[in-house]
Amino acid sequence: MRQQAEHHKVNQQTASHRKAGRKITILSLCLILMLSILSGCSGNTDQSKEPEQTNQKQESGTEMTSNFKPGTYTAEADGKDGKIQVEVTFDEAENITDIRIVSQTETAGIGDTAIERVKEQIIAGQTLAVDAVSGATETSSALVAAVEDTVKQAGASLEAFKGRAVQKAGIGQVEQLTADVVVVGAGASGVSAAVSAADQGAKVILIEKTATIGGASNLSWAGKFYNSSAAVESGLKVEVEREIADWIINNHWRVDAAAIRQYVTKSGETYDWLAEKGYKTAFLNFAGEQLHVLPPYETRQEALRAMLAESVERQGGQVITETTAKKLMTNDKGEVTGVIAEQADGTTLEISAKSVVMATGGYAANKEMVKESFGFEGVNGGLGQNIGEGLQMAWEAGAKVPDNFGGQMLHQTLARATDKLKSQYSPFEASYPLMLTYLPNFMNVGPSGARFRDEASTLTAVAAANTSAFNGAYHLVIVSKLQLDALMEQGMNGVNAPKLPGMPPEFYASFQDQFTLDNPWKNADKVFDAMVKNGDGYKGNTIGELAQNAGMDQGVLTDAFTKYQEATRTGVDTEFGKDKAYLQPMGDQGPYYAIIAEINNLGSVGGLLVNTKFEVLNDKRVPVKGLYAVGLESEGVLFNDTYVGNGVGIGYSFTSGRLGGESAANSALAK
Ligand SMILES: Cc1cc2nc3c(=O)[nH]c(=O)nc-3n(C[C@H](O)[C@H](O)[C@H](O)COP(=O)(O)OP(=O)(O)OC[C@H]3O[C@@H](n4cnc5c(N)ncnc54)[C@H](O)[C@@H]3O)c2cc1C
Repeated sequence: MRQQAEHHKVNQQTASHRKAGRKITILSLCLILMLSILSGCSGNTDQSKEPEQTNQKQESGTEMTSNFKPGTYTAEADGKDGKIQVEVTFDEAENITDIRIVSQTETAGIGDTAIERVKEQIIAGQTLAVDAVSGATETSSALVAAVEDTVKQAGASLEAFKGRAVQKAGIGQVEQLTADVVVVGAGASGVSAAVSAADQGAKVILIEKTATIGGASNLSWAGKFYNSSAAVESGLKVEVEREIADWIINNHWRVDAAAIRQYVTKSGETYDWLAEKGYKTAFLNFAGEQLHVLPPYETRQEALRAMLAESVERQGGQVITETTAKKLMTNDKGEVTGVIAEQADGTTLEISAKSVVMATGGYAANKEMVKESFGFEGVNGGLGQNIGEGLQMAWEAGAKVPDNFGGQMLHQTLARATDKLKSQYSPFEASYPLMLTYLPNFMNVGPSGARFRDEASTLTAVAAANTSAFNGAYHLVIVSKLQLDALMEQGMNGVNAPKLPGMPPEFYASFQDQFTLDNPWKNADKVFDAMVKNGDGYKGNTIGELAQNAGMDQGVLTDAFTKYQEATRTGVDTEFGKDKAYLQPMGDQGPYYAIIAEINNLGSVGGLLVNTKFEVLNDKRVPVKGLYAVGLESEGVLFNDTYVGNGVGIGYSFTSGRLGGESAANSALAK
């Protein structure tokens, strides 16, 4: 929905640019005359050719702006994960002939694919009014912004570039396809479902909204495949009955016991299945837990594509990317009979099938849906394109909305300050507030000012996020002057950090060499003041003033602070039992800072109820004929209200896909 709204906005802008463009033509001619008299110089860089300063006609017949200079121009803009630098070449006819990406650090397999797609659209249509690529809106917008900058530098007509429509050759065209099984979504679950269905002998069509295969698995670290051959060989075995019983109790019995049993007893086979198909995971004894580290990031997509080629395509099926499912087709008996989808060029696909498998990864990027079902939205750390379309389609076709709908995959908390600080300070300095949200040595309070947890829960990703979420939409990490001075003098050793903050490697990749416990936090006072100025934290010379500035209750924060001070003095935390080692003295001098920390949501969990054949159930808990669901869309059967499993996201997606695809194919082939 959010992306649809964004697209809508882009289209509106495009339309208004077109109208404005007509009015501007006359004005710009006058302006051009003035400018050419005044300078003729556009202040650009890297020009390879000097232009003729005359009004020229392009082949298309449009008037060229007189201060336009062909040549090569450089510019940069902030993408999702850093700067995107471009070198854009304009020919004499004011056309963009080449866009060279000088540097970029966007997410491999998602951002880089989007860059290529947007580049192609700009050059093919000589337009900046391009559609953002699904799942990579920020990357797409950054590339457009950088190219727009070069258009301005070149003195070319921005109105013309913004006014030309993207060519969508397929609008109005309808193509009809048939398959035994259609799988919607090519994340871990969708790819597995498509491959295993094809291996049963079914003709499979897999459609995927983006240009990327692999979905969130491309960003993930490890999966849990219980008692895999590798785990058992290593001597680490899980006692299955005990594991299942504990799982059910820990989820307050509000789960599908048969689904849990199926996952725990059959996920081990998935490890071998994946390995045989060339997607090799490496077993890791993770403090007694069986984890399987996914293949190197840069090889994953290729491995999944090879699996699809070997099974789906070889079997006569198709993998159709950049195609968004819009609606499920049903017959008069209410059975699902196919999918209507739209391709990037506007072509409508009507795909008839005997079984449809939904593998669309949930709705975490749909703020309204998360807010409504969960209470508040947090930060979406998952895929931007997962906006709940699959769920909406299935519900419209008769699927039940589960009674415990709203579970999320909450993972650590993030400092709201980081993004803005990154444009003001080095990546290491900009990450100071973020790092403190991962350390147990600081006092954490909720929006009221009350302390709410043993801060040692920050050491475990899922505990860190869920304790925060129970307490509200955000929490605050309190930092005193004594602590800030210690950080500036001795780095994290100064505050007795037990270990480096347990952030995912990509969070510190750009400052790996500075990411040590003894590196003094230079400029920390300035960084924290900037955080407050940016509106991403608070400051007060006294605890009372901090409470007032942060909108907390003064009495509540003062009371919490007094008790916490007492605990740091005595070494006994009577309220939460925090280990003495983490009870760091805070001194009694201001200023005090409060860092705003918000939950990081890696994905929604559930939305469709399924049985152990992965058939989607209706309000009467009877299968909707022809409809299946795997991966996150169906994962609510495993968890009551929140995701708690290390590696289960990946383990279940591959396993449910493998088993669900098989089941969908068997039913289709029997029809
Ligand atoms: C940053 C990050 C790190 C993670 N780390 C771990 C980890 O280490 N271990 C772990 O177990 N789990 C981890 N997870 C969770 C795990 O990645 C997911 O649970 C799992 O990959 C979900 O797989 P899926 O196939 O259900 O959904 P997805 O991977 O989300 O795939 C859904 C696919 O459907 C497509 N789609 C959406 N709508 C449509 C539509 N209308 N038409 C067509 N296609 C559509 C999407 O483009 C996407 O490709 C992590 C998640 C994230 C975001």
